[in-house]
Amino acid sequence: MKKIECDILIIGSGAGGGTAARVLAPLAQKGQRIVVADVGPFYTHEHFTQREIEGVDLLWDEGGVFTKDGAINIIMGRMVGGSTGIYTGVTFTVPPDVIRTWAIPGLTYDDLEKRFARIKEAINAHVLPDNFVNTNNRLFKKGVEKLGWPCGSIVINVKDCQQQGFCNLGCTVGAKQGTLEVEIPQAIKAGVEIIPNCQIEAVGGNKAWGTLAPAPPDSIPSKHEPGPVEFSAKKIILAGNTFGTSGILLRSKLSGMSPALGGYVTVHPSHTVFGIHPEVVEGFRGFPKTYYSTQFTESHHYYLETCFYYPFVAAKYIEGWGVEHKKIMRDYRKFMAILILNHDQAVPTNRIVLQKGVPVLDYRISKESIQSLCHAQRSAARVFFAAGCDRALLPASAKVVLKREDESRLEELIGPPYFILNKISIASAHPQGGCRMGTDPATSVTNEWGQVHGYPWLHVCDSSLLPSSTHVNPYLTIMALAERNAEHILETWK
Ligand SMILES: Cc1cc2nc3c(=O)[nH]c(=O)nc-3n(C[C@H](O)[C@H](O)[C@H](O)COP(=O)(O)OP(=O)(O)OC[C@H]3O[C@@H](n4cnc5c(N)ncnc54)[C@H](O)[C@@H]3O)c2cc1C
Repeated sequence: MKKIECDILIIGSGAGGGTAARVLAPLAQKGQRIVVADVGPFYTHEHFTQREIEGVDLLWDEGGVFTKDGAINIIMGRMVGGSTGIYTGVTFTVPPDVIRTWAIPGLTYDDLEKRFARIKEAINAHVLPDNFVNTNNRLFKKGVEKLGWPCGSIVINVKDCQQQGFCNLGCTVGAKQGTLEVEIPQAIKAGVEIIPNCQIEAVGGNKAWGTLAPAPPDSIPSKHEPGPVEFSAKKIILAGNTFGTSGILLRSKLSGMSPALGGYVTVHPSHTVFGIHPEVVEGFRGFPKTYYSTQFTESHHYYLETCFYYPFVAAKYIEGWGVEHKKIMRDYRKFMAILILNHDQAVPTNRIVLQKGVPVLDYRISKESIQSLCHAQRSAARVFFAAGCDRALLPASAKVVLKREDESRLEELIGPPYFILNKISIASAHPQGGCRMGTDPATSVTNEWGQVHGYPWLHVCDSSLLPSSTHVNPYLTIMALAERNAEHILETWK
């Protein structure tokens, strides 16, 4: 077995791991050996093709991860850069109330706010100029404002964006300022070593065990031969996300581990829904997401955001079969699209479990989430019609295609009786929790600095830390928490 000794081992290189590597890079400059191991390959942006069939290679299980009951499809990135390699860059700050309810000693909104501002500046997060707003977004704004609802501009972290539109298949020019473009290059420059294609199975006693796989063609290989590997490190930082980190800890069977391990997972259950406009919309032109509405955030727990999805993903979100489905897809260029994002509650029973050693999410969507998603579908239908669409495609509906004359009957036509699990498409790109922060080891896995309770050499810097859902798209909050936890390691480093 290959043995690698280092001072700090970071497992995962996404929003959390990439940020931890950037914060700890000064130690590498001073001669400490810092290694980032990621199960995914190390591609540079030149590799991305923006072809849907090739883009699935960048995802966990090629996009085929589902909750244990098969009801929700979970999408996560599996490459150096993690999910930030394929995210859209929607940059929201978590509502202050969410941080208050966490009640984590020393974790204040004031502190996080300063971090948000610094991180946003470093990754060029800003409201895009008007020439980036495509037809889909203009129609959303028109519809929302006609209904008298608020319409906000989304902050996006891109630099020299060429408006290719297919952000979730990887940006071919590296405009998206995820960790692959910003934090990882900074860390490498300071001397941090990246070991891609390295799956960590378990940790214990300042060690981590895993397997090195061959580098896929067109990717940057590590200098190590494929085969089993053992890392020894003074500190190990887990940053494999809700699935990866919870999975490693569950497999490790460390003594005295909190019963909360793997639990309290939230996913932001979401739908992508479509209206069909009489005119060509072509949501793939320009930037996909520039507007959102908070009209029902307080009252019904969801956000409406603009979005764009390519043909296969769009097709799987649409009801109907055979000829009917094909007929709908023929109007693809006229599709107006809205993303519905429900903020679900953190409960101990929604948890990561192991099935043959693989982390699987045992999650039951709540009645409250179903009510919220049905309400959101009715709202989306109203936006589509207000924006001029003559048809709307909503999954929890009595009809596959709703027509304008159905608008007065939305309460009757869209609702829980039609919300049939495993029939309608529900997705999540925001798994959170599993190793939640807190003070009580009975209900939390990590302490106020993300250190695993009882294990001073073991830390967490990723989405699994979140005690409850961030409500909004989470990457900025994850980066801020990872930065705070990694800074604590840096400050206390001997
Ligand atoms: C398509 C898509 C679009 C999104 N858009 C947005 C958006 O616009 N705004 C927003 O705020 N959020 C967005 N998100 C969510 C956001 O990207 C994630 O919440 C965030 O990246 C999670 O950070 P993380 O560090 O926890 O995990 P990740 O970024 O997922 O990184 C985890 C890394 O760990 C590696 N890993 C896992 N297990 C192991 C193991 N056992 N051994 C070694 N390595 C391992 C993985 O390969 C991966 O690289 C999006 C996500 C997706 C998938």
